[in-house]
Amino acid sequence: MGMAPFKIKLSETGTIKDIKKMIVRITGLPSCLNGQLVDFGGGNRGIIMGFDEEDVLALLLGDDTGVRLGQTVSGTSEPFTIPVGESLVGRMVDALGNPCDNRGEFVVEFNRPVFAPSPTIIERAPVNQFLYTGSKVIDALIPVGKGQRQLLMGDRMTGKTSIAVDAILNQKGRDMICIYCCIGKAVVNLQKVVGVLAERGALAYSIVVAATDSASAGEQYIVPFTAATIGELFMRRGRNVLVVFDDLTKHAWAYRQLSLLLERPPGREAYPGDIFYVQTQLMERAGKMNAKHGGGSMTFLGIADTLQGDLTGYIPSNLISICDGLVSLSATLFGEGMRPAIDFNLSLSIVGGRAQPPILRQLSGTLRRDYMHYTEVLRLSKLQSGLSKEAEGVLKRGRALLGVLQQAQSSPASLAEEVLLLYALREGLLDDLDAVQLGRFTHEIIISAKRSDVGLIEEVEAKSELTPQIEERLAAAIRLCLGEAAA
Ligand code: ATP
Ligand code: MG
Repeated sequence: MGMAPFKIKLSETGTIKDIKKMIVRITGLPSCLNGQLVDFGGGNRGIIMGFDEEDVLALLLGDDTGVRLGQTVSGTSEPFTIPVGESLVGRMVDALGNPCDNRGEFVVEFNRPVFAPSPTIIERAPVNQFLYTGSKVIDALIPVGKGQRQLLMGDRMTGKTSIAVDAILNQKGRDMICIYCCIGKAVVNLQKVVGVLAERGALAYSIVVAATDSASAGEQYIVPFTAATIGELFMRRGRNVLVVFDDLTKHAWAYRQLSLLLERPPGREAYPGDIFYVQTQLMERAGKMNAKHGGGSMTFLGIADTLQGDLTGYIPSNLISICDGLVSLSATLFGEGMRPAIDFNLSLSIVGGRAQPPILRQLSGTLRRDYMHYTEVLRLSKLQSGLSKEAEGVLKRGRALLGVLQQAQSSPASLAEEVLLLYALREGLLDDLDAVQLGRFTHEIIISAKRSDVGLIEEVEAKSELTPQIEERLAAAIRLCLGEAAA
């Protein structure tokens, strides 16, 4: 695997004609290729980003001290690579793969090209394994499969990062390598995430790849490709990888900035025409490998910002078209106190349903419909007084549903917990509880069930199917807990 071999002479040289921020214009280098590395001497390197009739345009990696007009540049025969190795786990690196956590070097196994092609169709298998996020709403309604590309979209401060980080926390003990890729976020945001990962023991299976807003636009543009490249090392060795991109809006901004320096004509919303191509190239690198190719997987959770919930903006709509699902977070719901503030009506997962454990699929079948009925009746109830008994029932069910699916930060739910709650909901056992009772029940059910029916939890997790015998035991455990909650 890798890039097509480069057929160029090592001795090829050019001359620097112009330097504009991190973009260097070079004359000469007649046979270089896009994505290829050039050497400015003195340890300075660049990547070729484009050409015009006479000149080559290169993106300077690192700082520009020591790069001067008229200086000689040599073309290398190599694509741009970063050093990789399994000892990256637990570490933080920058966009060029250099450690930046003051813990010294890591053991480099080899160099991998950063702009490598995505897995081919022959190497891939259908997405059919469940990636268990521990978020009740996502696992039940918007399931994610291993190898899927799922977007987390919403306005600023709607809980996007929290959902992604919670998904990483929930991978503890599940043989998953997690990569948190910071793109253009403030240093404090990065520190907060790293702090949570460290505190919860998640760094033991995670890698942080970061270009904050203090890094150059070039680094912010490269960094998600770097994260994917590191992920591929593990995926190609048959491991499961989860990569969080936080966030892809900033990535598009960085690329727009570079394109303006490259003097490319701006297109829609001032983005260059090929931003769609660039982000497609990135997202294509997720996937599930077939058994012959190790059976590994790489799942992408891509975060993107929206403005006032507008999913039809240029970047959001591009991203939606190249991903397999969308979790839409709503500022309105966030303002109303819903946590997580996921808008069920706008969220969907295209391939994850196939991977969902049968028991979850059976129990969540009517959730979406119940929720839609609820929002409908709620709207009507504001217009007219005196609701029918049936409408009252719909409202009660909706309130129970929303109550049960509330979830605090950093508290992933277990499969058994999700099953118990969804079963109680489906059977209408929670419809008559008030908010306090519902809260207490949601809190206590798992502990109560563990106590009242030893082995039930293990049985649910192992079988993962709703047999009549399991149904009976679930119902009994729930009734007992309800009795305690009412008392
Ligand atoms: P930004 O646009 O700044 O990146 P974001 O959309 O990533 O924001 P977060 O930083 O994840 O949002 O969360 C915003 C705030 O909401 C934080 O203060 C966070 O602690 C809080 N929050 C998020 N999810 C929950 C939750 N489930 N329960 C309680 N608080 C939450
Ligand atoms: Mg965030």
